[in-house]
Amino acid sequence: MAKQPRILAGQTAAITGAARGIGKATARALLAQGMKVAIGDVDLAAAGQTAAELGPSTVALPLDVTDRSSFSAFFDRAEEQLGPIDVLVNNAGIMPVGRFVDEDDLTAQRMVDINLHGVILGMKLALERMVPRGSGHIVNISSQAGKFGAPGGATYSATKHAVVGLTEAVRGEMRLMKADVDLSYVMPFVVNTELGGGLGAARGMKVLQPAEVADAIVEALQTGRVEVWVPKSAKRTSTLGVLLPRRLSEGMARALKADQVLAGADASARRGYELRASKSEPALAPGSEKPQLTEGAD
Ligand code: NAD
Repeated sequence: MAKQPRILAGQTAAITGAARGIGKATARALLAQGMKVAIGDVDLAAAGQTAAELGPSTVALPLDVTDRSSFSAFFDRAEEQLGPIDVLVNNAGIMPVGRFVDEDDLTAQRMVDINLHGVILGMKLALERMVPRGSGHIVNISSQAGKFGAPGGATYSATKHAVVGLTEAVRGEMRLMKADVDLSYVMPFVVNTELGGGLGAARGMKVLQPAEVADAIVEALQTGRVEVWVPKSAKRTSTLGVLLPRRLSEGMARALKADQVLAGADASARRGYELRASKSEPALAPGSEKPQLTEGAD
């Protein structure tokens, strides 16, 4: 008999990078389940607007996921205002695109700090609270670039692969520690957000809406699913890719134009996003970085 879905009503969620995009859609979906939501974002003005739009069970708080004291204060303030955090969605991330050989060191460092170390920090600080309480669920947002290396997004792919490995390993540790904390990772295809704008198209793959990813997150929380593909059908392509000889799987990726999704990005359409992403780690002083696909790069 199918298990009953877990009841989420009354629980508290903290979502990183929830001022816009997938994080905002996830906040909306969790609120619809009767949860309370803390929206943490480096863009506090946008987070405040989102909280005002989503209603009284939300709170907007400042958060830089690369900074331990900022993350810790985010959890403290969320718990003071909404109660113990039952769910953490590590969603904040950036995706500057461009050729690896042209990528400057600060851009790479920023991606590793936000997309990977931000998730590591969030998990450590949430587990400090969840393990002693004997409950909790952490959902890490990876990407299909966490399973396939995407040309045009090499460092991004590296961070998203790392999030998959990190989640699997910590899940194993939780089992060994007999700690009752669930862990999931979510791997969406391209989503219609600022981060996902101006990318190339792959044959047979439609661009997702943020609400579709949010629905998959709700389902993961209700069922405890660990590996979450969005759309679900992408799991078949992944399994096929692993089973086929490399020559055929790479040929399949080329035929589907999957290798052009990031490599074929439209620089002018992405200019606004790329500039915002380059300011997403306030403590990292700008230096000799070159814009990826920003001014002068197209
Ligand atoms: P988005 O740019 O619309 O939203 C990301 C949010 O994260 C922004 O509000 C930004 O201010 C915030 N943020 C950035 N740096 C931060 C920091 N240091 N501390 C706190 N907040 C910070 O992006 P999105 O498309 O909603 O992406 C959300 C997540 O989903 C990312 O991890 C991304 O890699 C992943 N993802 C996106 C897509 C896509 O196509 N959009 C596909 C797969 C995975």
